[in-house]
Amino acid sequence: MRQRKGVGELMEASGRTSVNERTKIYHVVLFDYGSSLYVFFKGCNFACRGCILKSTPWDCHIPKEDVRRLSSLDIELLRTLTLSELERIVVATSVKSAVLGGGEPTVDPSLPRVIELFKDYGVHTVLLTNGHALDEKLTTRLEAAGLNEVCVSIKAVTEEIHERYTGKSNRKVLRNFKFLRRSKMELRAETVLIPGLVERGEVEKIAAFIASIDKSIPLRIDGYTAIPHAEWRSATPSEVLDAVKSAKKHLKNVSCLHCEVPIKGNVVCVYP
Ligand code: SF4
Repeated sequence: MRQRKGVGELMEASGRTSVNERTKIYHVVLFDYGSSLYVFFKGCNFACRGCILKSTPWDCHIPKEDVRRLSSLDIELLRTLTLSELERIVVATSVKSAVLGGGEPTVDPSLPRVIELFKDYGVHTVLLTNGHALDEKLTTRLEAAGLNEVCVSIKAVTEEIHERYTGKSNRKVLRNFKFLRRSKMELRAETVLIPGLVERGEVEKIAAFIASIDKSIPLRIDGYTAIPHAEWRSATPSEVLDAVKSAKKHLKNVSCLHCEVPIKGNVVCVYP
């Protein structure tokens, strides 16, 4: 049930930081099919060479007129939302769920308060993360804040591939993923098939790693979309489907997303 208690009242009751606390949220999009918000956090602790945010900081599904309008904005000068501004969006949109992604949400110190805010309005929250900073302490804190679900994007299990792509070791990601299984939050994983780097064989290794923890953890395989200045081409739908077949040798629940999968419903740019 939705409690219409303002964020100010909540903060006061808990003795937490001011409603004017500024988050790192710079972009919010509404997907009306499924009544869901996608929330973009600024910044990341990885430097993935194929990161789609290098080609555009905006959601790739927003209407063309919004893309034109936003193209004049300087992302560095853009004001990120305060908690009370975020609350107004939650109230106005009455969504059922919110995906906290980015960028990397765990780089935002206000993330626990963001989750508490959504929880107060009965919104199911999903954290989409690279998992690097999601250690036992932060996992426990976010679970206590009311986080419902975590999706870890595992770029590679082969250390050399992971370092080459992200600039960081995968040691913490894999360790944190194992710990997450012990929490009560729902856990799933995703990865990106990148022809010439993260091939079908590497995706199968990722699936085998996940299966070594629990075969029932869902995995989604996304086809890579080429961006300027990165050396890899886009994955074809048939390559993605082949990778799904390999992953299914290990896991019970494997899905995929590629360029021919249509988006259902309307996509509305809520902020900025
Ligand atoms: S972890 Fe995600 S947001 Fe961060 S650089 Fe990699 S692809 Fe981009």
